[in-house]
Amino acid sequence: MADINQVIDKAKELAQTASEKSQEYYQISKCKFEIAQLKMKIEKNYNAIGKKVYDVKKAGEELPDFAAEMEEIDLLKADIEEQKDIISSIKNTIRCNSCGADVSEDDPFCPKCGASMK
Ligand SMILES: [Zn+2]
Repeated sequence: MADINQVIDKAKELAQTASEKSQEYYQISKCKFEIAQLKMKIEKNYNAIGKKVYDVKKAGEELPDFAAEMEEIDLLKADIEEQKDIISSIKNTIRCNSCGADVSEDDPFCPKCGASMK
């Protein structure tokens, strides 16, 4: 018969694991929310560029270079990659160099695009 202390220890261990899992889930949700916000900011920049193109073309003027908007989009994209890296580190996965999918460290190939993970 199992010792009562062993049962209590096992229960504590399971509670700890559940708590860690919900903590992970919370962290990943936070990252995904952040990614959604960043994507919205990127969309705003694309819209701003589109409106400028429209206004400038309508007025028959030369197109500006959009350097500021493009720089901001690139920074936002880098922030998204950072958030994805955080998710990968929480999930203990590695990112596929070819498609960016989360891949288990044991997988020799990416299950999404088939790229070799070696
Ligand atoms: Zn891939």
